[in-house]
Amino acid sequence: MLLDVRQAVRQRGTIFHFTHDEQIPPQEIFGDTVTFSNPVRFEGTFMMVEDVLQLKGILSTEVHARCANCLKEVNQPLRVEFSENVHRSDVKAEPDPFNDESTIPFDGYYAELAHLALTLAILALPIRFLCDESCEGDYQMQVEDAAEDEVDDSDHPFAALKQLLLKDQEV
Ligand SMILES: [Zn+2]
Repeated sequence: MLLDVRQAVRQRGTIFHFTHDEQIPPQEIFGDTVTFSNPVRFEGTFMMVEDVLQLKGILSTEVHARCANCLKEVNQPLRVEFSENVHRSDVKAEPDPFNDESTIPFDGYYAELAHLALTLAILALPIRFLCDESCEGDYQMQVEDAAEDEVDDSDHPFAALKQLLLKDQEV
């Protein structure tokens, strides 16, 4: 979706408020699928200062992922502040991979915010999701399983290691 900033081009130095919706497709992150409530919404202001578009505001959506411990679904609101100075994209120029501004293609009248939405959302994600700060799901389940089941020692993955340790003690 393109953000129409023509009014800011006509009235340079004037701040305009805007809301703008984008879609973020599901993302594969570390082998897990993270989805976003669409549309993700930009709310903020834009202003043209000379030939630079100044964009400021907040991107908001909700993230859906799985708890790293118990795999329960986790839903988290996501609010990311942004402040970007956008230069006109020169179509003829070689794309510069080190230039952040390439996340917002801008022809002077319309800015494309899809890539910015994705970048802001991904960078704001936690390293791992937990359904609760104290969630020890997987760990707890293993402890309970071990206590309930009559496990044959030789089946246990650490049985071999235990035998080695015992052998060492005997020597
Ligand atoms: Zn959990």
